[in-house]
Amino acid sequence: MTSLHCSACASTLLTTSLTRQRRLLISVRTRQPVQRLRRTRGAIRATAVTAEDDMKLKKGIAEFYDESSGIWENIWGEHMHHGFYEPGAVVEISDHRSAQIRMIEQSLVFASVPEDPLKKPKSIVDVGCGIGGSARYLSRKYEAECCGITLSPVQAERAQALAAAQGLASKVSFQVADALNQPFPDGKFNLVWSMESGEHMPDKLKFVSELARVAAPGATIIIVTWCHRDLLPNEKSLRPEEKRILDKICDGFYLPAWCSTADYIKLLESLSLKDIKAADWSDNVAPFWPAVIKSALSWNGLTSLLQSGWKTIRGALVMPLMIEGFQKGVIKFSIITCRKPE
Ligand code: SAH
Repeated sequence: MTSLHCSACASTLLTTSLTRQRRLLISVRTRQPVQRLRRTRGAIRATAVTAEDDMKLKKGIAEFYDESSGIWENIWGEHMHHGFYEPGAVVEISDHRSAQIRMIEQSLVFASVPEDPLKKPKSIVDVGCGIGGSARYLSRKYEAECCGITLSPVQAERAQALAAAQGLASKVSFQVADALNQPFPDGKFNLVWSMESGEHMPDKLKFVSELARVAAPGATIIIVTWCHRDLLPNEKSLRPEEKRILDKICDGFYLPAWCSTADYIKLLESLSLKDIKAADWSDNVAPFWPAVIKSALSWNGLTSLLQSGWKTIRGALVMPLMIEGFQKGVIKFSIITCRKPE
């Protein structure tokens, strides 16, 4: 494990010549001396990012989802995100798919996305779309056009096939593209949707800047993502045992450095976005990982895992750490929403 002192020093040295946004970006990053250097370098775009680190991360993410999406779909269906549950509820296994739909619905309600036929979104982007579960759901709900992007060619192809099978081929489209360099013009979408993809983004400022760039004036932006807990005023970083948990999860799930919900809010403020709101839904997702682990240990789960590749197995092995991270309060399941000014 490489110490991140070097990245912190580099950041400090550069601070004087940086814009406000860049300073913010660096403050997000230097508070995280937890990640290994390769991840950290990937995160510090304002300083010494190497294209090689970026490429490695993107390749890993693409291969991870190419390999594991079919197994996930067989067992869990088309939504590759947490379910939303009432805290403390006793949950049947059959409840999990409806809990994933509830996650989408609760997110839309939290962000006050209009249902009024005249004001509802007509054009939507699903950033980090998986096999397109949200994109198809949102397109149907709002009778809207929806474009989904993913790094995984297998996911993009499967998402398109499911759209055709569901009669949505003229409304939704999927492509392989980078969320940090989206293939869309400025101001194209009324609803910008990122469901559990933000945690994969090595440059959070670039990520939210791209979300804001493709948003139309007045558009709603919804980010549902894994964060680490907010730091206390007297803290400079997470505790070593907390860092160790996140590090292992990063390795298993191809994640770069994490940031906190407060960090996201600062970034959105720095872009002059309006009506910024956030909530901690960690208690609402608590039944999810135990259920995923249970399904992985079923006969179907185990045989599928054994037939998959090493990346999928490695991902499965870190799943208990997600439970530990939530229980120890270092992992937060956050929703952060805002609006682009008119
Ligand atoms: N939102 C989907 C899938 C979540 S899985 C759902 O809820 O079902 C994470 C997704 O983020 C994967 O599709 C992965 O390819 C995508 N992703 C990660 N980094 C990305 C990037 N830089 N650009 C585009 N997509 C990315």
